[in-house]
Amino acid sequence: MAGRGCRNPTRYKNQPHADAAGRGRTDPVRRTQKMDIGFIGLGNMGGPMAANLAAAGHSVTGFDLTAPAPAGVTMAPSAAEAAAGRDVVITMLPNGAILRAVAAEVIPAMKTGAVLCDCSTVDVDSARAVADLAADAGLGALDAPVSGGVGGASGGTLTFMVGGSADAFATVSPLFDIMGQKAVHCGDAGAGQSAKICNNMILGATMVATCEAFALADKLGLDRAKMFDVVSTSSGASWSINAYCPAPGVGPTSPADNDYTPGFAADLMLKDLRLSQQAAESVDADTPMGELAMRLYQTFVEDEDGRGRDFSAMLPRFSARGRG
Ligand code: NAD
Repeated sequence: MAGRGCRNPTRYKNQPHADAAGRGRTDPVRRTQKMDIGFIGLGNMGGPMAANLAAAGHSVTGFDLTAPAPAGVTMAPSAAEAAAGRDVVITMLPNGAILRAVAAEVIPAMKTGAVLCDCSTVDVDSARAVADLAADAGLGALDAPVSGGVGGASGGTLTFMVGGSADAFATVSPLFDIMGQKAVHCGDAGAGQSAKICNNMILGATMVATCEAFALADKLGLDRAKMFDVVSTSSGASWSINAYCPAPGVGPTSPADNDYTPGFAADLMLKDLRLSQQAAESVDADTPMGELAMRLYQTFVEDEDGRGRDFSAMLPRFSARGRG
């Protein structure tokens, strides 16, 4: 069981819990225990996540400024009313400023001992500030950003990277099991957001490197399928080429095969790269590749045709350019 003193804080969907002898077992009590959940922010990600919790039999009360009620979710007239008396309150919001404002409203309404679990991607400082506010009010708090996009939210196959106490992680773990396929307890408050932005800084940099290499290979007269065949099984391999190849018609099906319709939008990659550079500045970390990737995505989204396109559309961008 993923609680205090657990040996393996990484949980996979439907993975049996280990007993004292290390043998697998299921925990039917915890698996079937129904919770009273508040869910605030029911957009592209939060909507299907809340619907999955309701479909699993939990009582879900939602609030959003504009989004309609997901299937099975009862809407409340305010964030505070969605949060009052719930065992767990989940937020899925656009940014850290909005998270801080919502947290300031819902924390005083929550019952003692409940857990506030933020699944948005926000800056590490906001995650830690909200955790402090929650702790002062006698609540548990988790920062639990996700990987897997809208498809993962709908399919219940997200990966959660989680910061906060082991007790709070244990409380919310059955809900992570419903919304996702894997939850990693990364450490104390802010550790989930730290893991998320480090991962996405690698992703942004490797996607840029993969796209510029494809564009170079084109100009050298190398067939794209041969390029994929070699690189995907050589030392240039990465998730960006192996699982999400930016060249249409090559490798696995990806947004490139759908005219670069997201997928994972370049705008969201820019958001995450900005968060990584904000975090790097705050701790004096030298991240030149991340910074350059951020600048490239900024130009792509703000000055070129990248807004609303998949982040792998860097390939046609490089193809259309020379060195000048
Ligand atoms: P979205 O814009 O579709 O949804 C955000 C929702 O929050 C909207 O419905 C909005 O009305 C609501 N909202 C804003 N302010 C509010 C307030 N004060 N009170 C209540 N509701 C409020 O965004 P999304 O794509 O669902 O993304 C949500 C978060 O998940 C973001 O932090 C994003 O970075 C992260 N994320 C998104 C993806 C993705 O592929 N979309 C993938 C991973 C992580």
